[in-house]
Amino acid sequence: MKIQSIKGMNDLLPSDTKNWRQIENLLHNFFTIHGYGEIRTPIVEKSDLFNRVIGESTDIVNKEMYSWQDQNEEQIALRPELTAPAVRAYIEHNLDKLNKVSKLYYIGPAFRRERPQKGRQRQFYQYGVESIGSEHPEQDAEIISMAYNIFLMLGIDDLDLVINSVGSSNTKKKYEEILKQYLSNYIDQLSDTSKDRYNKNPLRILDSKSAQEQEIIKNAPSILECLNSEELEHFNDTQKFLDNLNIPYTIDNRLVRGLDYYTLTTFEIRSGKLGSQNALCGGGRYNNLIEQLGGKSIPSIGFAAGMERLMLALDFNKEQGIHLDVFIISIGKKAITNSLKICDKLRNQLGIYVRMDFSRSSFKSQMRQANKLNAEYVIILGEEEIKRKVGIIKTMSTGEQFEAPLDTIHKHFDIEKSKNDK
Ligand code: AMP
Repeated sequence: MKIQSIKGMNDLLPSDTKNWRQIENLLHNFFTIHGYGEIRTPIVEKSDLFNRVIGESTDIVNKEMYSWQDQNEEQIALRPELTAPAVRAYIEHNLDKLNKVSKLYYIGPAFRRERPQKGRQRQFYQYGVESIGSEHPEQDAEIISMAYNIFLMLGIDDLDLVINSVGSSNTKKKYEEILKQYLSNYIDQLSDTSKDRYNKNPLRILDSKSAQEQEIIKNAPSILECLNSEELEHFNDTQKFLDNLNIPYTIDNRLVRGLDYYTLTTFEIRSGKLGSQNALCGGGRYNNLIEQLGGKSIPSIGFAAGMERLMLALDFNKEQGIHLDVFIISIGKKAITNSLKICDKLRNQLGIYVRMDFSRSSFKSQMRQANKLNAEYVIILGEEEIKRKVGIIKTMSTGEQFEAPLDTIHKHFDIEKSKNDK
């Protein structure tokens, strides 16, 4: 029986990785020019890190985390997100001593045992940033605008940025009680999941997708009404900064996000292109997180976005963009020997993207390969040409062709290259 990959864990083939690498390069550059440095943390961490940071009552920790006991009886887990590891590393390496505000970014895999569907995998890639050290709303605005501008830069226009504020943990607690009180009138109409959340993590009920529950939630009291004057000022100032940057947003007082660690600003960016899994990116402030993990009290904010969903929104045409400089058609062993040598020279001396046939197929079939690869030129080395120590260079777009001596044929492409460079 064939062994297949694990459900929800997908391979990225060369036709994918080409596009991925292009986007990853853009992201590395984008974060660098914003002053963020890359952090790479291990894929496996102590489970306790996530239990404490994300919260034991969340679905991520409760149901979706790949967690097991190591040989030394330590409970370890595949990271379900990258904020907790980044913060763990920040504390462990005393990064607060280096800069007043530490700016980190990451790109890497995360794991959640969710039900796979379009835009939802069990292994997925996240890119994201953490700014640790500033409590001010200008930092919120920078983070939100960065998250938004990446999509804009990549030409994704069907965007919906939603923001909210959940206040401090005290405000959250106060609101939880108010919300529970309101929901207690509808408890019989709630699903089993929501009934469970009612006791463990009532704010999560606001995330419910069920139409019946949406109707109930619609009229629930707003968390914004619980904010104190300082929290409100932070939220208002964040909005003013966003307005100033011309970043369009809407306020949704139900956007509380599932994780326990959020305080004050929360935000999400959705795209109409994605179907039910429409969240491209989520983030917010987590002012208590560093302290919760044994560090000092240092305010922070960040976001995480899914690479797969970004790629879906970009809707790459996999064939688009394939472009080969030269394809060498060779007929017969002598031609193959020459072909290998010309490939070598073109690649190593001139950095030209060149391919040749390795299946000893017919002339016609080799020409088909060259067309499929969108080759700009072909070099034809038939038996006749080899006898005369020449090769034919054909420009595919015009059909023009001419002969060149075998031992100097590669030089022609050097001239071509410099012509193109002009
Ligand atoms: P979260 O950490 O849940 O806020 O997720 C941040 C972003 O990661 C989301 O907005 C998605 O783009 C992406 N994401 C989260 N879970 C998955 C998943 N299971 N599969 C693919 N992408 C995901």
